[in-house]
Amino acid sequence: MAAKGYFDWEPITESDAAIDAALEYANVPVLVACLTQLTGSLELIRGGMRIDKNRTRDLQCGLSPDEQTMVKQLTAEALRDYRDRGCPSLPPLDKTALRELLQFLTGQTLEDDYLEFYLEESEFEGEDAYGLPGFEAIPDEVKQSFHVVIVGAGMSGLLAGCRLKQAGVPFTIVERSLAVGGTWLDNQYPGCRVDSPSHVFEYSFARYPWPQYYCTQPVLQRYFSECATDFGIVPHIRFGHEVERAEFDEGSGLWRVIIRDADGVSTELSANAFISAVGQLNQPKLPDIAGRDDFTGPAFHSARWDQSVDLSGKRVAVIGTGASAMQLIPEVAEQARDVRIFMRTPPWIYPSPSYRHDVPDGEHWLINHVPHYARWYHFLLFWLDGEGLYASVTKDPCWPHQERSVSPENQALREFLIDSIKQEVGEDSALVEKLTPEHAPCGKRLLVDDGTWYRSLLRDDVQLITEGIERITSAGLVTDDGAEHEVDALVFATGFHASRFLWPMEIKGPGGRDLRDSWGDDPRAYLGVVVPGFPNLFCLYGPNTNIVVTGSTIFFSECGVHYIMSCLRLLMERGLRSLECRRDVHDAYNEIIDQGNLDVAWGAENVRSWYKNKAGRVTQNWPFRLLEYWNRTKAVNTADFELR
Ligand code: NAP
Repeated sequence: MAAKGYFDWEPITESDAAIDAALEYANVPVLVACLTQLTGSLELIRGGMRIDKNRTRDLQCGLSPDEQTMVKQLTAEALRDYRDRGCPSLPPLDKTALRELLQFLTGQTLEDDYLEFYLEESEFEGEDAYGLPGFEAIPDEVKQSFHVVIVGAGMSGLLAGCRLKQAGVPFTIVERSLAVGGTWLDNQYPGCRVDSPSHVFEYSFARYPWPQYYCTQPVLQRYFSECATDFGIVPHIRFGHEVERAEFDEGSGLWRVIIRDADGVSTELSANAFISAVGQLNQPKLPDIAGRDDFTGPAFHSARWDQSVDLSGKRVAVIGTGASAMQLIPEVAEQARDVRIFMRTPPWIYPSPSYRHDVPDGEHWLINHVPHYARWYHFLLFWLDGEGLYASVTKDPCWPHQERSVSPENQALREFLIDSIKQEVGEDSALVEKLTPEHAPCGKRLLVDDGTWYRSLLRDDVQLITEGIERITSAGLVTDDGAEHEVDALVFATGFHASRFLWPMEIKGPGGRDLRDSWGDDPRAYLGVVVPGFPNLFCLYGPNTNIVVTGSTIFFSECGVHYIMSCLRLLMERGLRSLECRRDVHDAYNEIIDQGNLDVAWGAENVRSWYKNKAGRVTQNWPFRLLEYWNRTKAVNTADFELR
């Protein structure tokens, strides 16, 4: 895969009929933006065409069938003309016009800081928005004497590798598995797919011909694998090695990183900077249920799916109804004779009709040929799936019954989601009630589905059990009401030890300070990236950088890597031994984060989730808009650090 950004489109050589056929699959709001760029005319949007900003996830954003037909016809004419003129480069639109287009696509007035953010992020100026210039000015011998060790060859670790490679800085990635992909390698349960739209779950410099709107695990693993090969990262990866411990030496400013292979053979690496890219969701969590190990049949966690077990014709119990369970249960139900789902808390699920759809050839053609289509399409998804939802997660302190919904917008979302449950399961009020969470929408991750999950619950061979689990026995489970559930196989879809960041690595800062002891179950970092007391240590997908609804985790990793690269540049440019975040800066920042998390749906007291630690503090999530993280990670403020 060659680097492919948003301005790489192919010339149009196809016939009129082929253009018309492809346009049948177009996202029409996106076409409006492309048409404006093709013609330079803002007539359509100034003429009163409006999208309905409340129609999130309706990709046509409420445009009427007549409007859609008209836009497609006008675009067909403009594309024919563009083709006949030899596909010339298009003059750029000025900022006022771009602002109007962004406002058209978001259906709302955008403040100036938003506008700047989107224009930069969307690379309308043709820049690599997350890349970092300036490394070319650093002498080669300085770069060559610098070495970075990254732990993890998942989405974030590979990204860090790509940027270091681009900058010409030597690095080694240590990866426990024998292949890349991280979470997209570990999670091979049936039905596993991304729940952010594929076209926002990609690196900004590596667009991909995604075959599905929400791609499946094998496709994602292939994407990361191709990126690792094509961007030259594979030779830098030490596969089959785990980081056992890392110790910082104050005298030299170097991390001593001890890695171990599967045979227990240890090797030592030396690093000027140590980047953890192990993520938040890599340590499967088994439930603390009496008798858990007594079950004699096959039993495994969703993230450690046992492919050798054939579930056909079996009686299967699944504990948990989170994101993983919701994806795997409909698939298991297709094979098994009987499925019993043990649900403690129902999830909120956002309906997305295209969830299991393939991207049709026509839309691939549009993405690859229509000038700016890929860019505007990315922007629309970024908005619908990200910032556009932010208003519905923030608390309105005057709104009553905060335990059910946190604001009028959040209540409207609640009603919409309950309606969609009814649409799938009918008016059986007892079942609707069982499936309706008590907590506010977005108190936990808002799942995405096309109704398959709800419909699978209606099958005769599927039982939804809400009684608590009293114990696990050799033959199955016993619930609090004394009922015995005999099964042949047991699946734990019970989540991860999310707040054990960097676990089980032993990380020792100056003076032998242990990161695990410093954090306990209350991990904190500045910007989720740097930690006082641990110089030249950087985290990706670190504390308080997870998102519940607002956007794709790749956005956070791109911002995080950009920030880390700025820190590394500073170390090299100034010939520094180390850079360490100031404690007061870190503490003040965390106060802001904590307050922010109290002001959003997932901070509510009645929500129990993997986002919170035992004390109820939200350790995992970013509470603000994406714009805020973008601005904070755009450049390093040297005053935030002790430089040595
Ligand atoms: P999860 O969201 O933590 O869900 C765990 C489930 O197990 C919950 O339903 C939980 O109930 C239940 N559970 C835990 N302990 C239990 C016990 N002792 N008894 C009964 N039930 C118990 O885990 P996950 O589904 O693996 O998802 C974790 C995260 O991974 C997601 O939030 C998401 O960020 C990510 N993910 C993403 C995708 C994707 O992109 N497609 C797919 C899967 C996962 P309670 O709710 O009552 O605690």
